[in-house]
Amino acid sequence: MDAITNLRGLDKIIVPIRLTSSSKIRFQCYPGVPCFKLCCSDLFLPLTPYDIIRIRDRLGLTTDEFLLLYTEPFILPKSGLPIVRLKMREDEEKTCPFLGEGGCTIYEVRPLACRYYPLGFGMFRNRDEGKNEDIYYLVKEGFCQGLDSGEEMTVEEYRISQGIPELEEPIKEWGEIIMRKESFGPMEVPEKSLQLFFMVSSNPERFRAFVFESKFLDMFEVPEETLEEIKKDDLKLLQFGFKWLKTVLFGDKLVKRKKEGPSVKKIKPF
Ligand code: SF4
Ligand code: SF4
Repeated sequence: MDAITNLRGLDKIIVPIRLTSSSKIRFQCYPGVPCFKLCCSDLFLPLTPYDIIRIRDRLGLTTDEFLLLYTEPFILPKSGLPIVRLKMREDEEKTCPFLGEGGCTIYEVRPLACRYYPLGFGMFRNRDEGKNEDIYYLVKEGFCQGLDSGEEMTVEEYRISQGIPELEEPIKEWGEIIMRKESFGPMEVPEKSLQLFFMVSSNPERFRAFVFESKFLDMFEVPEETLEEIKKDDLKLLQFGFKWLKTVLFGDKLVKRKKEGPSVKKIKPF
């Protein structure tokens, strides 16, 4: 174990290699691998809104309890948008709070970022073709013994093997919001907009209360059927929240404003 630990200490250089979904990679990870669990310490591990509800439900906690116990706020460097990340333990290694003797204790609901590793993911806007394109990159860290071993597979095959597409698709609009904000470059963002983004991205219970217990429904027209869905389904609530954020932050007309509403100060778009 020392040799591996030293290797990790000696080689922390990360070499990003850009890939597409059809690029071939070789990677194999299993409990007997000598570096087992070394990748689960000292991480900046961002949580998607879907990660939060899935891990929270698995732990049987309320969102507030989960956020308080296991996360801390984090500002995404390029966009300046606030999200949450997992708070590492305060031990010497700064291990992930979900790392147990036998590996990940929340393996079935592990975060999207853990599923991707050793791949990273991003989106960029192809202005010539007027569409968003997914890009991937390989993160080569010296301690990881799984790289370049096992069967060759495409990036897409790897994503499917990790259950990534079904977790990513429902929150695609959230990724688009971050990417659009990134594309504006550095700029000051109104505090209120940051708060709304953070609420939708991190706390469905608070967003639900905001929809049903504030003047929200006096300001926006929401079909009865949608209201019924978002009352009880957190994922539907998130998806409604992404559309609403696009409406108030970018001026997209995805959630209809009521013509006559209370004179509530308009939220300044980005
Ligand atoms: S959530 Fe699981 S897989 Fe991800 S870093 Fe923590 S222990 Fe490792
Ligand atoms: S092979 Fe890589 S991903 Fe798997 S346990 Fe080792 S360091 Fe972690």
